[in-house]
Amino acid sequence: MGMQLVHGFRRLETDELARLTFLGAAGEVTGSIYLLESEHARVLFDCGLCQGERHSRTQNARPFPFRVKDLDAVVLTHAHIDHSGLVPKLTRAGFRGKIHATEASGELLGVLLRDSAHIHEQDTKAENRRRMRHGQRPLEPLYEVADAERALERLVLHPFDAAWEFGEDLRLRFARAGHILGAASVECWVRSGTVERKIVFSGDLGRRHEPLLLPPEPPREADLVLLESTYGDRDHKDLDATVEELARALREAVQDGGNVIVPVFAVGRAQEILHYIGQLERDGRIPELPVFLDSPMAVRATELYRRYAECFQQTSAGGPCQALEPRQLEFCRTPDESMRLNDRRGIVILSSSGMCEGGRILHHLRHNLWRASTDVVIVGFQARGTLGRALVEGARRVRIFGEPVAVKARVVTLGGFSAHAGQSELVEWVAPLVKAGARVALVHGEDEKRAALAAKLVERLRTEAWQPLFGDRVVLRKRGEALAFERAAERRAATSR
Ligand SMILES: [Zn+2]
Repeated sequence: MGMQLVHGFRRLETDELARLTFLGAAGEVTGSIYLLESEHARVLFDCGLCQGERHSRTQNARPFPFRVKDLDAVVLTHAHIDHSGLVPKLTRAGFRGKIHATEASGELLGVLLRDSAHIHEQDTKAENRRRMRHGQRPLEPLYEVADAERALERLVLHPFDAAWEFGEDLRLRFARAGHILGAASVECWVRSGTVERKIVFSGDLGRRHEPLLLPPEPPREADLVLLESTYGDRDHKDLDATVEELARALREAVQDGGNVIVPVFAVGRAQEILHYIGQLERDGRIPELPVFLDSPMAVRATELYRRYAECFQQTSAGGPCQALEPRQLEFCRTPDESMRLNDRRGIVILSSSGMCEGGRILHHLRHNLWRASTDVVIVGFQARGTLGRALVEGARRVRIFGEPVAVKARVVTLGGFSAHAGQSELVEWVAPLVKAGARVALVHGEDEKRAALAAKLVERLRTEAWQPLFGDRVVLRKRGEALAFERAAERRAATSR
């Protein structure tokens, strides 16, 4: 990897309008970071944490490959940690610029960045106790809650659709991307004299028919578009069929009087599942059930979803869709409220973390997995190596808090819920841009997924997409060929020759 790439923020060549460098999510799904340098501004688009893989800890800890103090601003597409989670590391390293986001993203960032910082502090403390015992030097945390607070102080919030000027040569605008509350695609115009070129960052794109969010709005034209490719290789199962599977799982679960445990991501999936349970109850497709949302972060996010109902789909009557909730919904905020659920039967518990890697869900699994009357309903992606994945793959015995637990519960996996556009929706989203002449760079997807999407784009839109790696860049020119794609490996070879 091109770790040596250190950006001295060299001046642009006279015919260069701007440069865009891929510093993350280039051939992987997490850690989105793109650096735009124009004549007058240096701006990061997203600043995400690498998640999931074993090497992500070292990846997150390595210094930024540019001088943080020379950076003017950060623009965030949405609040998910793999797009925003390194922002507190920037403030810790001395970043003094502003952080731009949509209004709802700003609120969610308050929840997610504080939580992320808290986890880093706790993890480092635990790791350092171990290191001290072994006579090793303690580690610095990636960042602390104070760094997250400093980042939140630097937020500048914008409504959707309203363009704003940045510095002397940039104009920016947030367009709806679906996905989660506040999520946006970013349009960025760069100008010099009479020349103007435009880059579109898709951000993470949601699906067209999500009741709790307005559908993505594809920008109409661009010179360059960075398109996510998380599900570049396939379409999702039909949503109605998945909701019916959820109904069936809940009906069967209540018959034997056991508990239903649903691991959920606190932002997005939790609110979506609550909405569907509420809808199924009102349609008489399931009986009314006592439902508990047991995660302080999910409770906060649910309150924000209620507050930002203007982001929701419109009903046929023209008003925003009502977020339906189960009639007997209760929030568990304190540990006491959570522990009281241990003695209950015949209830539905939604808790996080979504992949059963930590949080209160672990307690509920420990109390319920060994009972044959329990149903575990999996509604989200489970990465390799997680407890959630072990359950999906039919493990008969798991370890929770160091203790073996027999798995007698029934585990039902519902594959059709996703906050990401599937392949067809991605192609449809980018089609108008390609028809208007935009070049496409595929980001935020594992290599084989973006390769599949690239092949689809050739087949459907007759366009060859770039598949950047770390350090590769696109140069935007003032005249002649508008864009040039440069490989970092070739650049290094040329300078060392
Ligand atoms: Zn996301």
